[in-house]
Amino acid sequence: MAQILPSVFGANILHLQDEINFLETENTEILHVDLMDGTYVNNIAFGPNQIAALKKASVMTFDVHMMLANPEKHIDDVIKTGAEMISVHYESTPHVHYILQKIKKAGRKAGVVLNPGTPENVLQYLLDDIDYILIMTINPGRPDQTFIEKSLEKIKNTKKMISDRNIQIEVDGGVNIDIAKKVKEAGADLIVVGGALFNANPKASYQALKNAIQ
Ligand code: ZN
Repeated sequence: MAQILPSVFGANILHLQDEINFLETENTEILHVDLMDGTYVNNIAFGPNQIAALKKASVMTFDVHMMLANPEKHIDDVIKTGAEMISVHYESTPHVHYILQKIKKAGRKAGVVLNPGTPENVLQYLLDDIDYILIMTINPGRPDQTFIEKSLEKIKNTKKMISDRNIQIEVDGGVNIDIAKKVKEAGADLIVVGGALFNANPKASYQALKNAIQ
């Protein structure tokens, strides 16, 4: 069954505790947290200390999406936040396999993220080390973009590649109600949503998003 993963980057930072309470009242299982370093992507957000503090204030599972240069330098700090799911960009390091091993050794779920220009078959020799594949459906760190339609083909091809392995497909970027339905039909299991949820009427928007992926 597919599920919606609210992205904390889309929430109101001045009312973060209220936003977390709202998401928990709505039975949210997984919170998506973007970690951006200003180098791998232009934006800067949510360092390990802030993520650890948020984690203490919540019962949700944390899915940390590392958008970092040299993630091998930061992975220990990210593991220390207590996040249950951690993903690394394939393009961000020559040491993807090493980082995946570190995440798995710490008992967390390990994900690899693919930018829009990266084909899914680069993961061929990593499939036994991965719990989820995060397919970027916009370019990372630039939230003011629209969903890249070509991503639907990539989700389908990724699903074929995974075959009967126990690997989930996550989708991140530009998802609204219509697109949530499309990516779910293409094979996405975990659907990250920011702006389409945290708007003037989050309760109604959340329900509409959940309905769209039933
Ligand atoms: Zn993300």
